[in-house]
Amino acid sequence: MGSAPKSPRLLIIYTGGTIGMAEDPKTGALIPFDFEHLMQNVPKIGQLGYDISHELFTPPLDSSNMNPAHWQHICRLIEDGYDSYDGFVVLHGTDTMAYTASALSFMLQGLDKPVVITGSQLPIGEIREDGTENLITALQIAAARHEDTGRPMVREVAISFGRFLWRGNRSTKVSSTDFGAFRSFNYPPLAKMDLHIRFDEDRLLTPQSEGPLQVAYEMDDAVSVAFIYPGITERVLAPQLASKEVKGVILRTFGAGNAPTEPWFTRLLAKAAKEGKVIVNVTQCPAGGVEEKRYATGDALAEAGVVSGLDMTCEAALTKMMHLFGSGLSPSQVARYMTEPIAGELTREDGTQSS
Ligand code: ASP
Repeated sequence: MGSAPKSPRLLIIYTGGTIGMAEDPKTGALIPFDFEHLMQNVPKIGQLGYDISHELFTPPLDSSNMNPAHWQHICRLIEDGYDSYDGFVVLHGTDTMAYTASALSFMLQGLDKPVVITGSQLPIGEIREDGTENLITALQIAAARHEDTGRPMVREVAISFGRFLWRGNRSTKVSSTDFGAFRSFNYPPLAKMDLHIRFDEDRLLTPQSEGPLQVAYEMDDAVSVAFIYPGITERVLAPQLASKEVKGVILRTFGAGNAPTEPWFTRLLAKAAKEGKVIVNVTQCPAGGVEEKRYATGDALAEAGVVSGLDMTCEAALTKMMHLFGSGLSPSQVARYMTEPIAGELTREDGTQSS
């Protein structure tokens, strides 16, 4: 890990989540406590020698309540502080962390500084907990600089949790109890944390241009997710696909992107696609991706006008669609960009992944 020439200036954005919670003595339930309290519980932060400021969500949010307006607020804080800070650490609940990480990766265009998101399974302040280590590690990652170039080591949105640093838009929450709560099944870790923080430099994203940070604030929430399962019926699926409120649907399919080939199913999808809805095929499997041509069942979806989401996570596909429609693109443009990497979120069919 490179050492910074001067004391790194970091901004902590505290949105809420378990990391900053405490047990209500009366009910035993976890309730958010204030940030100063959180900091008092981690006196070791002072030993890092960093120049740290903070911005708070008031009240702190359980991340189940996160929505695009909150993502916009986080982006605003990053944009406002972009020239003043070397890096950003976002403290966030684990439940929807992968959605926020994905959304920020699409919204923060031209990002050239670290945005490291972390949280914990147990609150800082409990005797046995993972929050202290996660917070300190996230700060160290946000402060890390390349030894030769002096540039920030991480120039993308990443999730630091437990022993790994993951690309934000490749991550998924995999456990509600394990201290390794996140994984990226289709992209290797950006760093491994053991005695040292070991970055895998070849895996880290390099910004495509040297341009300034540009924030794409608009997120269109006229999107939805349809989960298919054996026994799904036309009367259940039809209203979801026909809804006038929805411009695009992430279709969670089986295996390599397969779905029933019953005529009603294909007809429904073809009708929705013809009406200009963008339907993106994303597998229900945590690892691997959609290979439309592998089985006739997947091929039928492509024939009906369904677009392959390749190896994107559902979190990435959904927030990417919100971003693309939010940017004012037409359905055919959205469909095209859904199959192209724009922030390192997918691997193309030919195996390449750079934007
Ligand atoms: N419900 C909490 C949240 O996501 C869980 C956590 O932080 O781990 O905000």
